[in-house]
Amino acid sequence: MNKGRLIIISGPSGSGKDTIIKKVLSRLPEVKFSISSITRPMREGEVEGEKYNFVSREYFEDMIKNNLLLEYNNYIGNYYGTPRKPIDDAIENGEEIIIEVDTNGAANIRKLVDGTISVFIMPPSIEELRRRLSSRATDSDEVIEKRMRSAIEEIACAKDYDYIVVNDDLDTAVDDFIDVIKADRLKTERKNYLIDEVLEKC
Ligand code: 5GP
Repeated sequence: MNKGRLIIISGPSGSGKDTIIKKVLSRLPEVKFSISSITRPMREGEVEGEKYNFVSREYFEDMIKNNLLLEYNNYIGNYYGTPRKPIDDAIENGEEIIIEVDTNGAANIRKLVDGTISVFIMPPSIEELRRRLSSRATDSDEVIEKRMRSAIEEIACAKDYDYIVVNDDLDTAVDDFIDVIKADRLKTERKNYLIDEVLEKC
């Protein structure tokens, strides 16, 4: 059996990555999703355990101490981390797992795990990104400005990713992301067993 594949996805807040991930997971139900533990307060509409586990700072710091996180980062004053166990299980069981992290998290995971695929979701323009962030009534002007600054820093790291998906038209972006996953499944290194099977019968 092949080892599992970590599919890292990043993109600035407002790039639409959450919507893309949801649609990809509904079209490829065999793909798993890594639920991050975070200390940011829950936003309206968020559900505990869906994308995030909302935990206290103390709980998070205990997870760090007990080495329960594959990686973590402090983003605008809050901790965000990837629990290690579901990732280890996915690798062991030959499953694909999507991990949504910021660019620091992506860089750390690439160093720790071989053979990841990384995809950066790019907004069509910086003006469109500002418009999307401002239309979310949940964040204050100060938070929006911080997210814009952080977005520009993240876009500067997009060159480190294997693939760039531009989210101008949502359906096209979802198709593009699925194409990346499907193309990876066809890689020779994941199909070596087929070659061996055929040769064994010769
Ligand atoms: P938000 O507050 O908008 O949900 O997320 C803020 C940022 O944290 C996004 O760039 C998101 O990709 C990133 N993020 C979410 N989960 C994790 C995680 O487990 N680790 C890291 N390093 N970043 C994360």
